[in-house]
Amino acid sequence: MSIMEYAESLSDICGVADLSLDEDKLIEEYGEDICKYPYAIAIGHKMLEDIIETIPWTYNDDELAMQYIDEYFNSHKRVADISQKIIKYIENLGYNAILLDVSGSNKELDLKKPFSNKASANLAGIGWLGKNNLLTTEEFGPRLSWSTILTDAPLKEYSGRPMESLCNNCDICVKACPGKAIVDLPDPKKSYDPVKCGDFLKSRKDEGRPVACGMCLYICPFGNKKSKEILSSKE
Ligand code: SF4
Ligand code: SF4
Repeated sequence: MSIMEYAESLSDICGVADLSLDEDKLIEEYGEDICKYPYAIAIGHKMLEDIIETIPWTYNDDELAMQYIDEYFNSHKRVADISQKIIKYIENLGYNAILLDVSGSNKELDLKKPFSNKASANLAGIGWLGKNNLLTTEEFGPRLSWSTILTDAPLKEYSGRPMESLCNNCDICVKACPGKAIVDLPDPKKSYDPVKCGDFLKSRKDEGRPVACGMCLYICPFGNKKSKEILSSKE
């Protein structure tokens, strides 16, 4: 079984970014060490659907909110475990591979800033940054946890190119965000306001409620059938 066949068998979605194609830009942004390994494998793992579907009720039900928070962290642990298995597989074939942690760092690399999973999956051509600033895939929307493996295994034949946003005229997360933190602009750096999002989460804490809000993750039509129907009826 090839490395990518093995990665596909364990993940819900995965792809390869050939970092050498964007070397100059990446080195300028992250520093020399980002190209120490030529390929980044983005591994996506679905969060539990039953729990994601309860998100609209988490605002008034603390138990459901805690369940969602637990799943958020548990899914990150699961995707890290999957990635460790893939790393072992790569190493057994005689190549090197390292895992970037959830923040996009590894002690072996001296980076100017963390190399996020958002960047690796987008460069691999399997997702885009939505107006909500979440990494979004055509098949599962943003309902995934991610990790990134850097490796020198020869994966050129699997590498993709950056994926363009498929948000287009959709503004469903803009309208649904309870913190009014998303505006209808194509560039996620301009459409998503982390301060307003943080303020909303803080207001939850001040009310003594669990600090959870996943409406933008739940409502995206890429992953939510009801939203997809609403979006299709507008087109
Ligand atoms: S987490 Fe909540 S407040 Fe923040 S952007 Fe998403 S929907 Fe809005
Ligand atoms: S809800 Fe619509 S605008 Fe928001 S991220 Fe998803 S596709 Fe993009």
